[in-house]
Amino acid sequence: MNQIAVDFGGTNVKIGYVREGRIVAFGSIPAHSALGLLPRMKEVERVIRELGRNGSIPLEACGGIGIALPGVVDTKARKLLAIHEKYADAYGFPFEEWAAEAFSLPLVMENDARAALIGETSWGSARGERDAVLVIFGTGIGTAAMIDGKVLRGKHGQAGILGGHFSVASRGPVCNCGNTGCVEELASHRTLLVRAREEEGFSSSPLAALPDWGYAELIRSWREGDPFAKKFVERLTEYWSAGIVNLIHAYDPETVIVSGGLMKSADVLLPLLRDAVMDKVWKAWGSVRFTVAADPESSVLLGLARLSEDAVTNRGMKEDERI
Ligand SMILES: [Zn+2]
Repeated sequence: MNQIAVDFGGTNVKIGYVREGRIVAFGSIPAHSALGLLPRMKEVERVIRELGRNGSIPLEACGGIGIALPGVVDTKARKLLAIHEKYADAYGFPFEEWAAEAFSLPLVMENDARAALIGETSWGSARGERDAVLVIFGTGIGTAAMIDGKVLRGKHGQAGILGGHFSVASRGPVCNCGNTGCVEELASHRTLLVRAREEEGFSSSPLAALPDWGYAELIRSWREGDPFAKKFVERLTEYWSAGIVNLIHAYDPETVIVSGGLMKSADVLLPLLRDAVMDKVWKAWGSVRFTVAADPESSVLLGLARLSEDAVTNRGMKEDERI
């Protein structure tokens, strides 16, 4: 059975047909997330139909649709509860009615990091893992946690997903969430330029001459021997590792899955990150395993497909028996 999955990212909306843990048709459109969600829904609908036609996958051969958003999602009511800046008009949008009217298919909804964790533990780099946390270093920092095979959602839908807003410096800068010293405010792609300008020696770095830059340029500059980039990466690693230590202390995983654009440089960054975490973490029981998502672009879609599949087979099953 095919499942249709839609991942509303900050930069792109990714759309896929998934069958047995494999993406069999894929499309992507620019998100223009600042303009909101409503203008994109017609386009999403068009791409879903087009992909189905091109891949000869009729809607009758699909079990359901899954939608992921970078915010707090009520998975039972299939509604968005909270989101920062992007897709602000998605509040109150009747996603379930949309899926029923446009495609006559049932809908599942999930936070994007949680969907990625389900994707990675179902079919990805942590397949079969039942106790895991996931950290996505994207524009912001997304997280999710699974304990004993069950992904954590919590009473208000926010369990596990606010790891980017763990404070690692109580007198640090104020974050867009209102908290101070969040990992995301100190060390995410979103704030990289602001934080770099506060660091000593930035003006003499080749990065200072660039109009705009991100993780990729920072790592390149470091590889090319820029002393500022080296020092700045060390500083960022302190914050990233503090965030991961907090996740480990909170959720007791066996595996930490690291994902997102930053992990394109996993060859140099993962050892740094792992050493910094292992230096500080509580490890009386042993050592947590680190793994990098093999294909970060697809993990959300795979997770949504798994949820959609389970929703089809689990109808009538008790809530606490589900993922
Ligand atoms: Zn925050």
